[in-house]
Amino acid sequence: MTAVAAVTASAEVSFGLPGGALVAGEWQTGGLTAEVTDPHDGAPVGWVAGNDAADVDAAVRAAARALTEPWPLWQRREALEEAARLVRDEAAWLAGIIHTEGSKTVVEAEQEVRRCAETLRLSAAASTVLRGEVLEFDDSDRGAGKRGWFVREPLGVVAAITPFNDPLNLVAHKVGPALLAGNAVVVKPAEATPHSALALAAVLLRAGVPAARIAVVCGGGETGHALVTHPGVAAVSFTGGPATAARIAAEAGPKKLLMELGGNNPVIVCGDADLDAAADAIVRGAFGCAGQNCLSVQRVYADASIHEGLLTRITAGARALKVGPKTDRATDVGPMISEAEAARVEAWVGAALAGGARAHTGARRDGAYYHPTVLTDVPPDADVLVREVFGPVVTVVPVASTAAAVAAANSAPAMQTGVFTGVLDDALSIADRLHAGAVVVNGTSDVRIDSMPFGGFKGSGIGREGVRFAVEAMSEPKSTIIIAASQHQSTVKRTQ
Ligand code: NAP
Repeated sequence: MTAVAAVTASAEVSFGLPGGALVAGEWQTGGLTAEVTDPHDGAPVGWVAGNDAADVDAAVRAAARALTEPWPLWQRREALEEAARLVRDEAAWLAGIIHTEGSKTVVEAEQEVRRCAETLRLSAAASTVLRGEVLEFDDSDRGAGKRGWFVREPLGVVAAITPFNDPLNLVAHKVGPALLAGNAVVVKPAEATPHSALALAAVLLRAGVPAARIAVVCGGGETGHALVTHPGVAAVSFTGGPATAARIAAEAGPKKLLMELGGNNPVIVCGDADLDAAADAIVRGAFGCAGQNCLSVQRVYADASIHEGLLTRITAGARALKVGPKTDRATDVGPMISEAEAARVEAWVGAALAGGARAHTGARRDGAYYHPTVLTDVPPDADVLVREVFGPVVTVVPVASTAAAVAAANSAPAMQTGVFTGVLDDALSIADRLHAGAVVVNGTSDVRIDSMPFGGFKGSGIGREGVRFAVEAMSEPKSTIIIAASQHQSTVKRTQ
């Protein structure tokens, strides 16, 4: 598995993968009806299965059966350690799949593979989260005399629904913790980027994960719907947009829901900030992965005293970016995931411009490519300001005070935020008042270390990923209580 195989427009297994879906421990090699295309030009790059509700049912039932087979923690940990090593060994193959079927550049794809290996290594190392405790029954009248403890138990079959923008590492962020905690996982990757998830599953099986502990079902929203509504699924771990999240929450029934959603992320730049450093970080945070990143910088609130200087620097940085093919190592900004997505961003920017906004650079589309765009004077109710753009567009807004910046930043759901200031007291005061999953001081919203608790408030998410936090979320305490025979006798006497 070292090279990305050429695809000749037929329903063959692509990229040297063992199959186009993994159901009940078996790779599906026939009947691969779902074409996957390159966002660059829409050319076909491979085929996967179009799994229906019957396949989903088979995958969930087999996963539930697999849970009855012993797979002790030490073996789970060793399998994940081995998987991390194999991901490093197969880095070229995995990066090739990511940038061929997805929208990342080759450099961005390589970085994602390194992070995936790290996520799996961290998953293996998170076994200490599964420790239980002796319970202090003695601390209450009704508990006194009883003894017991709790251990952390797996939830059961976890449904993992993932988006297109980090097609490997976001799967690893669900599968690694779920398996470590002792669950079985059925993954439904984004229709646009299924091969990356299939490749990770192939690596996990090679690393020793028992067949049927992991399944990958391919297809669109209908396949996802069949999975999240399946009665055999105990928990849904979803990463994606708020509209899909609302549907899943309404349809899944009484299951544990973990949700990593979108962010309309703000950055505050104070009057004393290092403008070169702030502008450089904002340009990278707004336009990396063509803005298709839940941590993208979308809104910049700049103190009025430095607004012009910051805007000039951000605009110059955006103009210097090279928009081009994903395979060119010099490319900074590749395509969006589809021409339709680029056209949506074009429409949102067009509406803002029609409402009086000014574009300092960009505001231009070539097929699936949208050029890095810097806006000012955006109407306060424009989509580019109030909704998650998920494209390479940033709006810079002058603010008269820190209080105004904080209020504006908190006006929309954010995954994370950034604040640039040289004054520690100001940074801490602003951080205290921002409502987001993380505040990055002297950095932008676009900072994620895979071990940190990760997630948003309000419409940005429910629960936290970040490996050990996901292990905790994907397990529950189960208590054992020992009632001494002497207590029984006294209870019997009391009730007589
Ligand atoms: P999406 O449209 O919500 O899709 C996410 C996943 O849900 C895909 O696999 C999709 O399948 C599936 N799906 C669609 N309808 C479904 C249904 N009824 N039941 C179950 N599953 C269903 O999101 P996206 O466009 O792929 O990704 C972009 C969004 O993800 C953005 O909002 C971004 O901010 C968010 N995101 C969040 C994080 C985070 O960690 N917080 C990270 C990355 C991205 P199809 O693809 O086949 O339609």
